[in-house]
Amino acid sequence: MLRLRNVEVAYGRLTALRRVSLHVDQGEIVSLIGANGAGKSTLLRTVAGLQRAGGGTVQFRGQDVTALRAEKVVALGCSLVPEGRQVFATMPVRENLLLGATVQYRRGKAAEVEADLARMFALFPRLAERQAQLAGTLSGGEQQMLAMARALMARPALVMLDEPSMGLAPLVVKDVLRAIQAIRGEGATVLLVEQNARAALRIADRGYVLENGRIVLEGSAEDLLGNHDVQRAYLGGDQSEARAAEARQASGPAEAAQAGKAKEDR
Ligand code: ATP
Repeated sequence: MLRLRNVEVAYGRLTALRRVSLHVDQGEIVSLIGANGAGKSTLLRTVAGLQRAGGGTVQFRGQDVTALRAEKVVALGCSLVPEGRQVFATMPVRENLLLGATVQYRRGKAAEVEADLARMFALFPRLAERQAQLAGTLSGGEQQMLAMARALMARPALVMLDEPSMGLAPLVVKDVLRAIQAIRGEGATVLLVEQNARAALRIADRGYVLENGRIVLEGSAEDLLGNHDVQRAYLGGDQSEARAAEARQASGPAEAAQAGKAKEDR
């Protein structure tokens, strides 16, 4: 679905991405984790055509999109849910969603837009209740749902989310994570950028760790959750995930199920 090879991005003399290579397969949820300033947003913006790569290539569905403009990338089926939601505050919820469908009108799929709106309202019932409300008056969690739904209105094959949990209360974060799983359930592939590494890895299939613009670690979400370096740097030093992963590896199916249940209970 998506493949980056040796991507380099610089802002003047500051190098933000150094020879970054990663891939996302169809149907996966892949998390990119990293500290403030590691280059996560830069990576998503580069794929989305909002930032130019100084080197390397970005391939989306087999096509080289490295030099494409943002509208072209969206038209090909790759949508970005930007950091900070960026909904149109003075417009109602419904109009925000219709703006997300611009690319569908261009594709000659205007007839499908009403059905897509209905799908979004089924997926995000809170938005259905608030169709006429100005987006700027929604709660943070509702704005995040709106930003996700707006991206989905373009019928993307790949949805990239930049820090969707930022600034949200823990319970709302859970709703957002469930919504991301539902997005995958609808057939989209997901690339998820998060500082909240634990939350992101719990719903992901695989993950990458970005430090100072470089990929320093990659693996299955389970392996990363169990990795001591990841634990120390990104999971607040909590070793319980590591112990659970070790228990699963060392034990038979019954104990593994128990370890899995313990994880659920937390
Ligand atoms: P955060 O989680 O804080 O958003 P991030 O991992 O998304 O961080 P980026 O926003 O990609 O990181 O930033 C990577 C580096 O590039 C940082 O050092 C940042 O200061 C710098 N940078 C980002 N955007 C610009 C810009 N438009 N001009 C100059 N430097 C920038």
